[in-house]
Amino acid sequence: MSSCAPRADAIDPLLRSWVESACEPQSDFPIQNLAYGIREGAVAVRIGEKYLRLKDALDARAFSGGLTVADWGSSLTSPSLNAFAALPASVRSEVRQQLAAIFANGSAARAKIEPLLCSVGASDRPEQLPFQVGDYSDFYASLHHATNVGSMFRPTNPLLPNWKHVPIGYHGRASSLVPSRTAIVRPHGQTVAHDDGPPSFGPSKLMDYELEVGFFVGTENALGSTIPVTQAWDHIFGFALVNDWSARDIQKWEYQPLGPFLAKNFATTVSSWVVTREALEPFRIAGPPRTAEDPKPLPYLDDPNGWNLDVTLEVLISSEKMRADGMVPSLISRGSLGDMFWTPAQMLAHHASNGCNMQVGDLLASGTVSGTTKESRGCLLERTWRGTEPLTLGDGTERRFLQDGDEVIMRGYCEKAGHPRIGFGECRGTVQPARGGSTR
Ligand code: MN
Repeated sequence: MSSCAPRADAIDPLLRSWVESACEPQSDFPIQNLAYGIREGAVAVRIGEKYLRLKDALDARAFSGGLTVADWGSSLTSPSLNAFAALPASVRSEVRQQLAAIFANGSAARAKIEPLLCSVGASDRPEQLPFQVGDYSDFYASLHHATNVGSMFRPTNPLLPNWKHVPIGYHGRASSLVPSRTAIVRPHGQTVAHDDGPPSFGPSKLMDYELEVGFFVGTENALGSTIPVTQAWDHIFGFALVNDWSARDIQKWEYQPLGPFLAKNFATTVSSWVVTREALEPFRIAGPPRTAEDPKPLPYLDDPNGWNLDVTLEVLISSEKMRADGMVPSLISRGSLGDMFWTPAQMLAHHASNGCNMQVGDLLASGTVSGTTKESRGCLLERTWRGTEPLTLGDGTERRFLQDGDEVIMRGYCEKAGHPRIGFGECRGTVQPARGGSTR
């Protein structure tokens, strides 16, 4: 397949919806997006500031033709997208086309569907995870992030010799994945005042976020089989925003020799609405950027027509005082997923290259998305250069790392002339004080 040919299930960029909020130019969820999530324990599709539970539309007989209840009805009443994502591609494609027809201007289904729409609304309560995630892996795919962090921890040896050959990753913890708006309690752990110790145990003082994009597996491979890099895109169901909360002081003491562990697995926030790969196809860009000096990927990772996604990503911070005073959050960074050295297809192909079986609902995250400029660095460790270049928030206070009460807001969206903006909504979490005392 050529790298940028439109697919049959692309939705006409000129199509407009009768749902008014889906037609606002700044909406993340126009009719061309049709992101999926879970609401009230059932599969829902997002349109503008509304959502529709698909089983309600099925009950109202809004779907027609080839879509029978037997094909897909039982996948809609599950509190996760797993069964829905595992439907044959032909069924999911048909659902997407019929949803576009239902929501299109002039649709005969409007009278049936409009009373079934619910408002997304504003709530401080935790949202819902879109998938039941069996396994979560986190990569380290940004050359700029790896080089920046490496130069802080190993000034003479920032980029390890394997980095441009292997998409480096580690196994995260699925049990502590949490939905957007879940409170994040500052973790306890071992930290050291001097590089060689001795350690003490207490609340982390260097709490950070990591701006990442994750993708969910929709098509499995059997244990012992692999996923060819040129087919890996078709195994991906869709994408969401991920905040890989990180305790830098715990990480610094524990990370050698086996990599991140308790510095990471106290919580990872995932956004609610999964943007399908079909909706993102117009925003594929050539990639990854490699120079003449970079090694050629080994054959199993070599994807000459491979692509990155041009997703603009932003991090904002709002302190407790800023929220009390009604101030807008402060923009901390803005970067692009298009800057990544390793593509989603390469990460997935690499993960399965040893015969590891990827299962429906598995989450693979990109690693911190950082670009070449200071303003595009996707974590505070880099953004404040380990705290040596503090940032000033809108309330006049300085930040080196996160303070209790800070809310971290991540946003992602794709923009391109001739196409409606496709967005991911938000991924939010607020840092809460550590629990108990030192004797806990
Ligand atoms: Mn990470």
